[in-house]
Amino acid sequence: TYQVHIIGGGLAGSEAAWQLAEAGLKVRLSEMRGAGEMTPAHQTDGLAELVCSNSFRSDDAESNAVGLLHAEMRALGSLIMSAGDRHRVPAGSALAVDRDGFSAEVTARLAAHPNIEIVRERVDALPASGATIVATGPLTAATLAGSIAAATGADALAFFDAIAPIVHGDTIDMDICWKASRWDKGEADYINCPMTKEQYLAFHQGLLDGEKTEFRDWEKDTPYFEGCMPIEVMAERGVDTLRFGPMKPVGLDDPKTGRWPYAVVQLRQDNALGTLWNMVGFQTKLKHAEQVRLFRTIPGLEKAEFARLGGLHRNTFIQSPRLLDETLRLRSAPHIRFAGQITGCEGYVESAAIGLLAGRFAAAELRGAPLAPPPLTTALGALLGHITGGAEAATYQPMNVNFGLFPPLDIGRTKKADRKKLYTERARADLGAWRASQSSSVEVEAGS
Ligand code: FAD
Repeated sequence: TYQVHIIGGGLAGSEAAWQLAEAGLKVRLSEMRGAGEMTPAHQTDGLAELVCSNSFRSDDAESNAVGLLHAEMRALGSLIMSAGDRHRVPAGSALAVDRDGFSAEVTARLAAHPNIEIVRERVDALPASGATIVATGPLTAATLAGSIAAATGADALAFFDAIAPIVHGDTIDMDICWKASRWDKGEADYINCPMTKEQYLAFHQGLLDGEKTEFRDWEKDTPYFEGCMPIEVMAERGVDTLRFGPMKPVGLDDPKTGRWPYAVVQLRQDNALGTLWNMVGFQTKLKHAEQVRLFRTIPGLEKAEFARLGGLHRNTFIQSPRLLDETLRLRSAPHIRFAGQITGCEGYVESAAIGLLAGRFAAAELRGAPLAPPPLTTALGALLGHITGGAEAATYQPMNVNFGLFPPLDIGRTKKADRKKLYTERARADLGAWRASQSSSVEVEAGS
């Protein structure tokens, strides 16, 4: 018998299983690979297989948000970080791992744990009762996806992402851009970047010429829904298609000229903090370096820093900000938690981090001492907060951890490098305080 059923033995499910087992709870970990099933991206039966790059990205905990996330996970006894550290290969300041050694170690340590039973089976429906963590990832098997859609509503489960770039608001030049809504209706909700005819034509040509990422073979059936078609595909339809689509200038008087520009790029606030701005309609398969180069030719975005670049992939994820509570429980069926990329985080490390939190939340709940979410000022808390409520639900798309998810520092103008250090110092202090409050509440429970 088991106390928690984890579905999916990837990055998130493996970490969640470890956290629960270390907290003394019995876990059943169901993984379909090894039971005659495979996803289009995996190649082995190993748990926590890295499906593409072997990098956990920057390991710099002083000035990088994902490096900080590494450090916080290590402090909380992460299996994924411990196995990653043991199988590290040289990669400068990044943490890259030997993928086979890494996956073999995760598999062996979970298999050897007395509180974990690994079952090679495909799960086709959400369990009707019993504590459950769904961690089936971006390529969740179809039948289970159907069951999730039935529980969440079909429009709350996406099978593809359509990611528009996101810009750090404080890197937009507001001497060139201005805030307004079309026809000045309602609040001035959009940041508008004006373009002349020459600028627009050069930009249009740049979209046509820019190097694009190819779809993988198994992604070729990716549908281009009207409304989230890649910007370069729209550009191919004609020189003016964008001016009648996402770049239309009508109803947007540039305060400098009192007239509509030839074309406009609009950015919309993307998180409750107001630190991140989404380039509306700019989902794209342009290569990342090409996006940075081309989008910095947009007036007002010359110095833009991107919290996320655009993309379009097969990717199963739910509308977490609307569906999940602050400890990752499905509001409509709170015995079920979601973890990993299916919650709309992006990346190996982020997926494992959300698995870590889901495991800890479930363990604390089952022991009768519910755990408060980590503070928003920590990397774990900022990522979790974005997923469970900070992001706009209607336009929710996958996101990596980045400093734009953190509550801004109240420090005026500071050099970027110094600002990053201040973020990580604040995070370390606040994670420490959160952990201290946790241990005192457990002591109270033990003593009562
Ligand atoms: P996964 O690691 O995919 O784990 C989910 C597990 O659930 C799988 O083992 C799967 O077999 C199992 N499963 C699915 N359905 C069922 C079912 N019904 N019953 C039982 N088991 C089931 N991130 C990066 O940081 N770097 C990259 O280079 C990178 N490249 C990627 C390339 C591709 C093609 C894809 C799809 C994603 C990539 N990602 C990358 C994003 C993401 O971080 C990884 O996919 C990561 O593995 C997600 O972790 P997870 O635990 O949520 O899902």
